[in-house]
Amino acid sequence: MTTGFFWDERCFWHSGGNYAGLLPVGGLVQPGGGLPENPETKRRLVNLLHVTGLWGELATRHAPVATEEDLLRVHPRDYIETFKAKSAEGGGELGLRTPFGPDGFEIASLSAGLAKAALFATLKGEVDNAYALSRPPGHHCLPDFPNGFCLLANLAIAIEAAQTHKLTDRVAVIDWDVHHGNGTEAIFYDRDDVLTISLHQERNYPLDSGDFADRGSDGGVGYNLNIPLPPGTGHAGYIEAFERLVIPSLHAFQPDAIVVACGFDASLVDPLSRMITGGDTFRAMTEMTMAAAADLCDGRLMMAHEGGYSEAHVPFLGHGVLETMSGSDIHAADPFQAKFEGQQPNERFNRYVSDLIAEMAETLDL
Ligand code: ZN
Repeated sequence: MTTGFFWDERCFWHSGGNYAGLLPVGGLVQPGGGLPENPETKRRLVNLLHVTGLWGELATRHAPVATEEDLLRVHPRDYIETFKAKSAEGGGELGLRTPFGPDGFEIASLSAGLAKAALFATLKGEVDNAYALSRPPGHHCLPDFPNGFCLLANLAIAIEAAQTHKLTDRVAVIDWDVHHGNGTEAIFYDRDDVLTISLHQERNYPLDSGDFADRGSDGGVGYNLNIPLPPGTGHAGYIEAFERLVIPSLHAFQPDAIVVACGFDASLVDPLSRMITGGDTFRAMTEMTMAAAADLCDGRLMMAHEGGYSEAHVPFLGHGVLETMSGSDIHAADPFQAKFEGQQPNERFNRYVSDLIAEMAETLDL
């Protein structure tokens, strides 16, 4: 297996400014800590790949920025122009929780460019599958409103570009970031050629979206699937949601490519969620997705990095995904998984989650 790994040091130079957690510093808010979305949550994955040697087994690549033409397929021109101008002035804020610094526009365009290049390389058969270490992330970004640390809709930009270049017709998106993939959902909500599936902690972020009942509009009805899971969902709940909902939906849709919005914030130690997953969960979800891709679309699978705010845990989760994608023998055990062994939800809670999933499966006739 050859797995492409698309990255760029400049993505780690995106800066949200002077924050303490989600708060700008000032008044009684003491400086320090930074935004949860900080470079270390991503750079340390690169570092771990170097330390274990998995880096040497990946086809590591850089990529050009997404072009203006690429961006305009998803975002209106006035949003792009405003973003570009503000970035040139040194940065600012255009939406909700999306501060950016100097060159914010260029770095966001590079982040989208990595996702595009990773998808193109996969679809052209230059690699067996690919991973884009995109930063800033993209799945919350609406066409004209950035939010949740997302400034451009990376995956939607990549998919639209690939469709325009006739590299793919039908794409399935699996978003396992712990937050709802509301941007990707909105962009493809009325379309039947892109299936969007989001597994997320219910009512986490955004608070007002991600309902199971939101199935799409117009011609896109039935092509959006939200799987809201209660806080505290663990490994068993995620695997069951995959087996009973995600994989059957992929088979029903018959995509010719699968892309994953790969957030690692369902981690059991993530500061922005309340789920209980570790390396085993991400390895298993990757294996199941690869098996579906092998069955349905010659293995064509691309992932783009989204959230994940435990800078200590994310590298191990990412390493597990990349080990699996590349079929490598290099194994980095998840030390958090071992430390929290036995702290999965009890049987009663798992049954509750299982019943919710069964109800969704029944409604969908899966
Ligand atoms: Zn997230």
